[in-house]
Amino acid sequence: MPIRRLTEDMINRIAAGEVVERPASVVKELVENAIDAGARRIEIVTAGGGAALIRVTDDGSGMNAEDLALSVDRHATSKLTDLDDIRTLGFRGEALASIGAVARLSIASRHASEGHGWEVVVEGGALQPLRPAALASGTRVEVRDLFFATPARLKFLKGERAEASAITEVVRRLAIAHPEIRFHLTGSDRSALDLPSTGDAGLAARLTQILGPDFAQNAMPVDALREGVRLFGLAGLPTYHRANALQQYLMVNGRPVRDRLLMGALRAGYADVMARDRHPVVALGIEIAPQDVDVNVHPAKADVRFRDPGLVRGLIVGALRHAIIASGHRATTTGGG
Ligand code: ADP
Ligand code: MG
Repeated sequence: MPIRRLTEDMINRIAAGEVVERPASVVKELVENAIDAGARRIEIVTAGGGAALIRVTDDGSGMNAEDLALSVDRHATSKLTDLDDIRTLGFRGEALASIGAVARLSIASRHASEGHGWEVVVEGGALQPLRPAALASGTRVEVRDLFFATPARLKFLKGERAEASAITEVVRRLAIAHPEIRFHLTGSDRSALDLPSTGDAGLAARLTQILGPDFAQNAMPVDALREGVRLFGLAGLPTYHRANALQQYLMVNGRPVRDRLLMGALRAGYADVMARDRHPVVALGIEIAPQDVDVNVHPAKADVRFRDPGLVRGLIVGALRHAIIASGHRATTTGGG
């Protein structure tokens, strides 16, 4: 077989395989875009576990006609200027192009500088001409019939309920990373969320909204600084543990992550006071200079790489041990130290 170059459409579908694994990944990308656009309110509506419909509406900056047309192009981003200095959640310029390649995508947006909004429609990679749209400033993105253009991927979706709860989990994680924003999620199942902005009450109040008052009453405040890296948040008391690590909310510069190094540091911090098969409940954020962390490790950006992993690990382990001692807990396992 001779070598041929892939078409733009094929490239987008291949990228979509990495970026858009399931409806929850679409929700993650769209909500991250809304956060990057400076939204104060983000509303998410889904149907059919997100496979039939995902609609995300924000009151952020919006886009003018020119940017709207570009936004669905592959590798088109208004965000990236320097890979060593990423201050936004997005930077690859791939999400909208990928979603447009595998679903029916429509984006209506209005920038403050425009007298009215515009709408762009992409279906299975085919772009239709822009048309005027009526909407207040901000952006409304609608994704219908996810994976209609890639039936093989469609088959891998779990049931409606499982997909809906994965969506709720994604929104929960982003909401914990951004307590200043109001999030509203409705769908076909019970996992709806209504999370008003917590204002000055910040993270602790957001955690109470999401985990209930129990957690804050059983948690230790954490606030530590080492060589310019800050660790903050709440860590559950050693007596407040779970059978799995699902309630470990970790954030790096406002980005929810599930990072091996961070999870390992958590385990080490609690090692002396918690049985090995139990998991603490925590919500911890790290603030670090963008140059000292690489978020460009995986398309979904859940893993990060720190320039100085030892520093970050030491900061977490030290702060947790300190908080545990301050709370009056002693090692319960033998041989700890
Ligand atoms: P990225 O977020 O990596 O830049 P995306 O494909 O997710 O790539 O989005 C492409 C571009 O479209 C963004 O850089 C941004 O300029 C614009 N955009 C997307 N969503 C929104 C939104 N909700 N509000 C304003 N602009 C948006
Ligand atoms: Mg994006």
